[in-house]
Amino acid sequence: MVPPDLLEMLDILACPVCLKPLVLRGEDGLKCNECKRVYPIRNGIPMLLEPEAMIEQL
Ligand SMILES: [Zn+2]
Repeated sequence: MVPPDLLEMLDILACPVCLKPLVLRGEDGLKCNECKRVYPIRNGIPMLLEPEAMIEQL
C-alpha cells in the first residue's frame, strides 16, 4: 500500500538532479523520467538523495 500522504507529496517532489517531477514506480520507488533515476521509498519516506538512486537500464 502506498501511504496517502505520499501521493500528496508526489505533487511537490522533484528529482534533485534535474528538478523534473517524479512518478511512482511500483510501491517502493520514485522514478524520474528525465534521467531514469529511481529513488527508493523506505518506510513511506522518499529518499531523494542522488547517491541513493539507481539508474534504471531499459
Ligand atoms: Zn532526474
